[in-house]
Formats: sequence, C-alpha cells, structure tokens
Amino acid sequence: MISSIKGTKDILPPEVKKWQLIEKIARETFELYGYKEIRTPIFEATELFEKGTGETSEIVIKEMYTFIDKGGRSITLRPEGTPGVVRALIEHRLYLKSTPLRFYYIGPMFRYDKPQKGRYRQFHQIGLEVFGEEDPAIDAEVIEIVDFLLKRLGISQIEILINSIGCKKCRPPYLEILKVEAEKHKKELCPDCQRKVYTNPLRIFDCKKEKCINLADNFPKIIDYLCNECKEHFSKLKNYLNLYGIEYRVEPKLARGLDYYTKTVFEFISKKLGAQDAVLGGGRYDDLVKIFDGPSLPGIGFAIGAERLISLLPEEFEEKEDLLYIAYLGDEAKKETLSILRFLRKKNIKCIAEFKDKNLKNQLSRANKLNAKWVLIIGEDELREKKYKLKDMEKGIQKELNKEELVEELTKKL
Ligand code: AMP
Repeated sequence: MISSIKGTKDILPPEVKKWQLIEKIARETFELYGYKEIRTPIFEATELFEKGTGETSEIVIKEMYTFIDKGGRSITLRPEGTPGVVRALIEHRLYLKSTPLRFYYIGPMFRYDKPQKGRYRQFHQIGLEVFGEEDPAIDAEVIEIVDFLLKRLGISQIEILINSIGCKKCRPPYLEILKVEAEKHKKELCPDCQRKVYTNPLRIFDCKKEKCINLADNFPKIIDYLCNECKEHFSKLKNYLNLYGIEYRVEPKLARGLDYYTKTVFEFISKKLGAQDAVLGGGRYDDLVKIFDGPSLPGIGFAIGAERLISLLPEEFEEKEDLLYIAYLGDEAKKETLSILRFLRKKNIKCIAEFKDKNLKNQLSRANKLNAKWVLIIGEDELREKKYKLKDMEKGIQKELNKEELVEELTKKL
C-alpha cells in the first residue's frame, strides 16, 4: 500500500466543510476591508526565498523543499507567501496601477520540518499583504482585521503580542551589542543558537529551549534601542490599537523567524495550541521590495496557519447556509408554496421546500438539518392574511411579511 508522505495529510469530508467555511469567511472579511485575492505559483526559483525569506532564517537554512528540475534550475516549493507576492508585484508592475496594493492569498506552503502536532510539511496559510503604506495606522488595521476575523469565527482566548524590531538604522548597532552579550554566554547556548550569535543573534529569542530562553531573558532587547522614528512608529501603533479597543501585550523578545521584518512584528497566540502556540505571525517589511530591485515601497503582512486556526474553531461552529426553507401546512398552502418558490428564485433567492413530509414539525426539523438560515411558514392563517411568518434561525426572530416585504428582507440579509 502506498501511503501519504510524512508531514502531509488528507482533508476529508466532513472536515473539509470547515476548510471551505474558514476560507469563505476569510475571503469575505478581507474583501470587506478592500483586499483582492492574488494567486502565485506554488514553486518559485530558490533564489527568491534565499533573498527574500533570508539566508539566515531557519526556513532557508533547514526547511526548504528544494530540487533541481529537468532544465537544471533550482526550484523550491514555497515555504511562505510573501516573497512570491512581492515578485509578482514587481514583475507585473502592479504598483503603477491606481488600485490599492492590498492583497490576500490562501494556499499550501511547504517546510521540511520535524512533523509534530501543529507542525506539518505541507500546511496552509491564509495571508495578507499591503504595500505603499508607511503609517502605523495600517499596522493597526492589519492587526484589527485578524481580530475581526477571529471574532467572526468565534475564536476566543487569543493573546496578541507586538514588538518593534527597528529598522536598518537602529538594528545593526543594537545587534552588535546583543552579539557581545550573547558571545559571553556562547558556551551555555544550544548549538543552533551558538551559530546564531554570528549569523543573526536576534534569532536566539526564537529558540524554544529552556536554557536559551532563560539566558535570552537577560539579553538586551531591541525595544530599548530603537531610533526616534521607530519609537514613534511603535508608540502610534499602540495608540491606534487602543483606539480600536484591541488588547495586546508588548513582548520585547518577539523577533519572528524571517529576515525581512522591520519595525512592527506581531503574533497571535493561543494556549489551546500547546507547544506550537502561534496561530499567526506577521510584520512590516519596508525594505523587501527594494531588495528585489523594485521601487521603494514599504509593506506589511501576516500569515495565519489554517490548520491551527481550524483546531481552534468552537465545536458548534457551523455557519447557516444562505437558504430559505419553506414549511407549509395543507394543500392550499402547498400551492402557494410552489408559487412563492418560483417568485423568490426569480429574485435570485436560494430557497427550497420538500414535499414528502406533511407534518410542520418535521419540516422545521429538516430546515434545521439542512442548516437553513431562514424558514418561511405558510399555514391557513398566513394564506388568508397573505402575510407569511419568516423565522431567522440564527437569531430566533420572527417577522410577518407579505411577498414584497419578504424579498426586501431576504435580499437585505442573505
Ligand atoms: P510564519 O510564516 O513562520 O510566520 O508562520 C505563520 C503561521 O503559519 C504560524 O503562526 C503557524 O500558524 C503557521 N505555520 C508555520 N509553519 C507551520 C507548519 N510547519 N505547520 C503548520 N503550520 C505552520
């Protein structure tokens, strides 16, 4: 028997329903904020990630799925979405268009990491990128979008961590100070962190080993070495988040694993996830477009781990379908039902009635099973009055409406 590759998994029904739902709600949410979908290839030139994700990142050092294709080119299965989006932005000169440079993507990513709970070799990210906005108001909005999305999905008990990791002016002198301090403790650090002392000491803060965590607690933190511009940017970000009423915690040790971040970095974590506690991570990358010989365009984005997001969905999570179920009582009501079905379908309203069960109670329970958002009840009284009972199954509200009012109500809500 041939089985699936380690670190990959099939998404089978009925679980796939959850995937369709989170993808749908994410799309709706991002579109609501003016973002447009972008789809880039799953494989790219290896150099794109070496240059973008960064040669000192753990992803590039250890986790890339790289192979030589039949034409002798080095190809890599994308480990993250941002470099591909940046490449497309430059290649198609999207920045010359007048539309806002706000994109989202949904798709599989590949990292050759040790598989464990919450960490796979093929996993999925739902991500978003904004270009051309320097103002911290956009940093706050990007964080607010995720907060909004998680609330829509009914996910609670999430902690938002934020930090600033400075810019190309204030980070290099800080890194020197950090390096000196880390060097003093080099022998006590794990082999990976010993290497990081020279390649990128900021990465030591990402290490999950207890000894390194304890040592790093006492290392100098970038937040205390920010230049005035970065300090002001961060302080404004906090003010905007306060304005939104979003709770957050400043985590001076939050460094994030990728090379390209500048200023704002953030993570949403949940205790329910166990060791791999980050649902999503993101940050600003003001120099990345330039690194790829594009124009000087600042950027900011995040990527949500879809597998982790799904594992946090509340058990009862199930969105009602935009469907109207007509339940009727008696032969006359049945005739009226047929005519109303035709009338509503012409108005593009998704509706059904079933004819095998004459009992009203059973029809209502069928509506429930089908997850209908609305039920229309037509009985003798309703026929006489030409007013029908419309029941909102989510909110439990009931209204009496004539045909025209019905269309108005349904097109408003559906
Ligand atoms: P990153 O691109 O590393 O910042 O990751 C962003 C998010 O993707 C993380 O917060 C996780 O939710 C998710 N993620 C990253 N790597 C994996 C993986 N190997 N398996 C599953 N989810 C992952």
